[in-house]
Amino acid sequence: MTAPLRTLRRIGAVLLLAAAANLPLAAQVRSAPTRPAAASAWETTRLRNADYVDLLHMAAKLGWKPQWDVPGRTLTLRSPDDTKIVFEMDERDCHLDGVRIFLSERVAAHRNTLWVSRLDVVKTLAPLLAPATQALVLPQPPRLIVLDAGHGGTDPGKSNTRHKLHEKDMTLDVVLRLKPLLEARGFRVLLTRKDDTRFANSPIVDLQRRADFANKAVADLFLSIHFNAVDPKDAARVTGSETYVLTPQSMLSTSDEKPDEMTGTAFPGNRHDLGNVLLGFHLHRRIVGDLKTSDRGYKRARFAVLRFVQCPAALIEAAYLSNDAEAARVGTPAFRQQIAEAIARGVESYATTLAGLHAAAAKK
Ligand SMILES: [Zn+2]
Repeated sequence: MTAPLRTLRRIGAVLLLAAAANLPLAAQVRSAPTRPAAASAWETTRLRNADYVDLLHMAAKLGWKPQWDVPGRTLTLRSPDDTKIVFEMDERDCHLDGVRIFLSERVAAHRNTLWVSRLDVVKTLAPLLAPATQALVLPQPPRLIVLDAGHGGTDPGKSNTRHKLHEKDMTLDVVLRLKPLLEARGFRVLLTRKDDTRFANSPIVDLQRRADFANKAVADLFLSIHFNAVDPKDAARVTGSETYVLTPQSMLSTSDEKPDEMTGTAFPGNRHDLGNVLLGFHLHRRIVGDLKTSDRGYKRARFAVLRFVQCPAALIEAAYLSNDAEAARVGTPAFRQQIAEAIARGVESYATTLAGLHAAAAKK
């Protein structure tokens, strides 16, 4: 049997078993594609200086049913198990079972259909919608988790003066709550800091040391916890949670409209693009779902801790300290406990999904 034929047979077996395994969380974001989602498998058209894939073509390959909510403008794709993803013309985000996911490039309208960039398909959509096809390179479920409480010591992070809250204290409190919740689920947990300290006065050295800590411990998962803030003029209207994972090479970070000096670089963290995309989605879905907070989106960034860390990693901006009402909520132990519990459930969901995908692949 030729190697490609073996691969196809293997993937077919994985899909059948994954479908039969009734994986609780994977099942909600997985469907049965008929072909491997290799980069070369997608027919592309050159639009806006990038290669784009017709969403109807992607749907057909994944076995998802398309439905035009507004012809040529708003498209819903539905999996056989009724997971749905919604795309809208010119928008940079899409919604997978209601969870807001940012793409690298805007959705383009062309020839009466909608298109997304090939890199968004290969790096974000195919791994989320059909993770079973990616089983060969999936990370193992995590055992050792490093939790990083953002900021510390002379670096308070963001603050809310009215409620006298500093980000560094809130992040440490959440991490201390999260540790036993993860341990109770069988994970080993290490903390980059356990008290009010920082690793270096230089911000970049401080961040590099946090990543080094995880790398030296040979962590399987790294989570950096933060709280957010916007300019005072926007503070009243901006609330909610964001989850970040490292931007894959050659793709735009969510805050970028055009490439910058880092866009073309592959960082150590990019070896875990597939683990990252699953981790970010499972975390974000739990955080916005469980906290019932505004969904600011599952995003991509080249933050230093995410670039340097050598395992799947995410950075969570749990809430906005710049918004007085939200800061008041963050100031309560009950809400910080809810944040910790949502993150713990997100990690569990990610680990269960990986375990299910590996088990299905092993039974082939
Ligand atoms: Zn921060």
